Amino acid sequence: MSKLLSFFSHKYCFLTLIGVLFFSVFGYSTYAAHSYFVYQNKQNQIKSMISLLREYDATLTYTAIIYTISNEKNYYDTYQRTVPLLSDLIQDAIDMFPEINNKLLNLNAINTHLLALEQKAFTLVQNNQSDEAIEIFKSASYIDSKTQYGNELSLITSFLVTTAIAFQQRFISAFIISSLVFILFFIALLAALVRVNRWISTHYKYQKYIGEIAECLLTDSNESLDLNMTCFLNIIAEIFEADVTFVSMIKDNQAMKHWIKNHDKYSKQLNKDLYKQIKVIDKNYQVIHYNHESVQPDEKNFMIKYSLSDLIVCVSSFNTKMVFFGFANHTKKLKIATIHHHLLTSVLGLLKQTYHKMNYEDELFYLATTDSLTGIDNRRMLIEKIEKERKRHLRYNLRGCLLMIDLDLFKNINDTYGHSVGDLVLKHFAETTKHCLRDIDTFGRIGGEEFLVFLPNTSCDDSQLVAQRIQTALANNPFKYHSKTILYTVSIGITQFHKQDNQIDDALNRSDHALYLAKENGRNRIEIIT
Ligand code: GH3
Ligand code: MG
Ligand code: MG
Repeated sequence: MSKLLSFFSHKYCFLTLIGVLFFSVFGYSTYAAHSYFVYQNKQNQIKSMISLLREYDATLTYTAIIYTISNEKNYYDTYQRTVPLLSDLIQDAIDMFPEINNKLLNLNAINTHLLALEQKAFTLVQNNQSDEAIEIFKSASYIDSKTQYGNELSLITSFLVTTAIAFQQRFISAFIISSLVFILFFIALLAALVRVNRWISTHYKYQKYIGEIAECLLTDSNESLDLNMTCFLNIIAEIFEADVTFVSMIKDNQAMKHWIKNHDKYSKQLNKDLYKQIKVIDKNYQVIHYNHESVQPDEKNFMIKYSLSDLIVCVSSFNTKMVFFGFANHTKKLKIATIHHHLLTSVLGLLKQTYHKMNYEDELFYLATTDSLTGIDNRRMLIEKIEKERKRHLRYNLRGCLLMIDLDLFKNINDTYGHSVGDLVLKHFAETTKHCLRDIDTFGRIGGEEFLVFLPNTSCDDSQLVAQRIQTALANNPFKYHSKTILYTVSIGITQFHKQDNQIDDALNRSDHALYLAKENGRNRIEIIT
């Protein structure tokens, strides 16, 4: 049943029905108009026939009576001329109007009876029995037949009038119905044209939008991406007339799993017609329409927090990441049509590509600037950052200190426990040291088991405290490997920026020298060259 309903509610089926209705009403009204005009024509003919029938009948009666009374020949002649005229007229009427055949045959019978009576009167006149002849015209049989003849004619006339009214009514109602259907048909045609026009212009507009969005998203430089994302969101807001738009990417697996798990839930509710607007476009693309009545607690809180009445989220997943964008309204209801789905799919695809590209560039940058073992800055990044800092400190006349740190007798750890354990020790050192530093400090690996720290706007005395803090942390929190504690120490050489330094290497050389002194003086030491 519902299949049948959905079949009939389909737009093509609807249009076909409208077409069939239009043409059947058109056919019916044409038929009604035709029959009405044909009948009108017939009616006029029969009306003139009836008046002739009355006239001939009257002629027969008065010529017969006058002839009987006066015995004048010319009345008899007129009578004899009229008799066949009347009979022929009745016969013609019977041939032309089969629908009133009964009535006309009746009329003919009465007429024959009257003619017989009149003929009888004429015979009496010719036998000089005029009084008896006059008695025939006065007889009940003659008078009754006369009355019957008149009544029959009246009946025919009233029958004609009723039939004419029925035809007229049929014609009028057909005319009204067909006019209404015509109007409906033209309104539907007009609406269809408007719709087609709107569809074409919307389609064209969306093509343009997609072009603009693609231009925004697939930009070459990462710097302009922020700006382009803003443009992208503005375009989305314009398309969907939304008050709020957002775009984001979730990188971590956990969020992804949570999302997918919940989506199964949403999809089930979709079948319960709560989420009529949800459409699973593709396995990887989803568009979800939330509103207050049918929202999950997480989204409900989100909506309440931002006073949103309607929220649409479009999600797409790739690798272990998810990219999504959404738009919402504070008061108005959002609607997504089929055409929007194509747009949303394209936009999600573009977003995915953008994030993919961003991600790839991020990864390249990460590889180029990060030490792969410890995850801290590599030599290149470290020198670049410290050089920038050196220039800033010189310009603003600030003091900044460099700490060159080298693990003592690290070769022994490698030799005793193996190279891989040596790696873990290096990681342990990087983690421990990070916790002793501020966010604004710079920390990286120069190479091997040698590290460098830069403390901005810090005096040598304060730097020494930091160096001691690192040594203490290592002593208090030694590296543990399979229930074995591997104690190790570091030697630290400290120096500060000098105004007369030409390049960073001058300061690096000094810190190297201070480190050398620390090694020379027995290791696990701090030496300062101011
Ligand atoms: P000192 O106290 O004089 O610095 O003695 P040391 O043994 O630490 O110094 P040396 O320069 O003799 O040895 C450094 C060792 O560090 C040699 C090298 O094999 C090891 N090494 C360098 N890079 C790595 C690394 O990435 N992982 C491991 N496990 N060992 C490394
Ligand atoms: Mg060493
Ligand atoms: Mg070394």
